[in-house]
Amino acid sequence: MSNSDKKECILCNVGSNKVPLVQLHYQDKNYWICPQHIPILIHQPDKLEGIIPGAENFQAG
Ligand SMILES: [Zn+2]
Repeated sequence: MSNSDKKECILCNVGSNKVPLVQLHYQDKNYWICPQHIPILIHQPDKLEGIIPGAENFQAG
């Protein structure tokens, strides 16, 4: 069973029943991230290493 289809923030696991989640589509997989953690995706993508396979290739904004 894969976690990647669950609609929960990849960082804090909050569900879409509590906050609006933004869907990320990457390498044919879907991930979800909450508004609180979008800045991490943009500015500290290295924090996503180990959560999203291939995140080490993301470029910080
Ligand atoms: Zn979050």
